[in-house]
Amino acid sequence: MYRVKEVFPTLQGEGAQAGRVAVFCRFSKCNLWTGREADRHRAVCQFCDTDFVGTDGQNGGTFASAGELARHVASFWPTPGQGRPLVVCTGGEPLLQLDEALIEAFHEQGLEVAVETNGTLPAPAGIDWLCVSPKAGAQVVIDVCDELKLVYPQQGASPEDYDGIRARERFLSPMASPYGLAGEDPEKQRNTRLAIDYCLQHPRWRLSVQMHKIVGID
Ligand code: SF4
Repeated sequence: MYRVKEVFPTLQGEGAQAGRVAVFCRFSKCNLWTGREADRHRAVCQFCDTDFVGTDGQNGGTFASAGELARHVASFWPTPGQGRPLVVCTGGEPLLQLDEALIEAFHEQGLEVAVETNGTLPAPAGIDWLCVSPKAGAQVVIDVCDELKLVYPQQGASPEDYDGIRARERFLSPMASPYGLAGEDPEKQRNTRLAIDYCLQHPRWRLSVQMHKIVGID
């Protein structure tokens, strides 16, 4: 049984695949926060701005089998038979649920499988693009990935702390205000400047901006 908050087609907004059309599959639940505001102060990860609780989002639900979920996800690819269909498995923490059977079922539907994980759980075989986004205070157990994406700055999680992870690409994503400010976010602007300065000093890191927020898409 797979529990999914929402499924929707959009453009990937961040990192190495930014601008690419993808179907997002947001799994319910995370191992670093319950998702309830009342618990935020005691969560390991405190800056989350995503609703991953339950299955009541757009096209969400519970799916009895890998094949059922894979067919559901594939049905949202906007132009059947065209492009390089991609599913981005996100959350919450997708590796609480994503298993080899589901990866295989996605592949059978012609979908490449990208995953965005906090890196605290082992990744099943077969993932086509693995993006690890470490969180302070949570031990990362994945040591090889395609993309490392660090929200910056994070007390207790410096970019150098992840030098031991082998990644094709390394991105800093400026920390936004935890209060989800609409429009102007001076804190994010400051953090963007800090991230740019860090990249200039450490050019193997690149800046990742949240393109989807800048252009106003989900
Ligand atoms: S690890 Fe990701 S999904 Fe989980 S609470 Fe943190 S930002 Fe949210």
